[in-house]
Amino acid sequence: MKYIGAHVSASGGVENAPVNALEIGATAFALFTKNQRQWVAAPLSAKSIKDFKAKCEANGIKVEHILPHDSYLINLGHPEEDGLAKSRVAFLDEMQRCEQLGLKLLNFHPGSHLSKISEEECLTRIAESINLTLAKTEGVTAVIENTAGQGTNMGHRFEHLAYIINKVEDKSRVGVCLDTCHTFTAGYDFLEHYDEVFDDFARIVGFEYLRGIHLNDSKKPLGSRVDRHDSIGKGLLNLDFFKRFMNDGRFNDMPIILETPDETIWGEEIAMLRAMID
Ligand SMILES: [Zn+2]
Ligand SMILES: [Zn+2]
Repeated sequence: MKYIGAHVSASGGVENAPVNALEIGATAFALFTKNQRQWVAAPLSAKSIKDFKAKCEANGIKVEHILPHDSYLINLGHPEEDGLAKSRVAFLDEMQRCEQLGLKLLNFHPGSHLSKISEEECLTRIAESINLTLAKTEGVTAVIENTAGQGTNMGHRFEHLAYIINKVEDKSRVGVCLDTCHTFTAGYDFLEHYDEVFDDFARIVGFEYLRGIHLNDSKKPLGSRVDRHDSIGKGLLNLDFFKRFMNDGRFNDMPIILETPDETIWGEEIAMLRAMID
């Protein structure tokens, strides 16, 4: 079964996210558990936590289908000690917020070398950051998102994801999230070579690590390494691809999250995607 939703607003409190999800007919959702553009946030209140759990349950959304996203400021592969330490503190806080909310997943962008260390050194630091955080938390899986490879961002090759996973000690709590816009602009042509791309993913990373999907169309072409999402069917991907994806059982039973730019049509996008299922 497919569980579809969007990255909904948690403005006014995390407990508003499941309400916003229900309004667009979602059976999955993503959220920020704190302001994504600030390093520090007030702790979650006991009331917020209780309300969040109650509203998820009332709206029939299971924790397995909720994919929280961490702050954009965090760089777990930071080349400098200060930046790395600050990122690790903030990431631990993000994981602990997920623990408090009873969530199982935390989605994050792997990190950037900023042209100051090698790609390999950056990936090694990311894996160390994950190990340090998993050792201090319980029950939450670190979900690495593949990237478009913009600038010095790592994570645009399946090999990068595999390299990190290989160095993570607790393999039961590391996973990946594939973003369709990022995969395409990183250079994987699933429009022309759907089977080859996902066979490569299976061989290099493995579907057993796949914990979620960001389902986005792309404004930028194959291999451009530029990250610009578009609404489903309005970008350079095509509806044949989305139909094939929606009927591919390898993407069942995990959160499929829209991060498409026009939130006023999320409900329509979700309905359209559901209607594609044979
Ligand atoms: Zn994404
Ligand atoms: Zn993106």
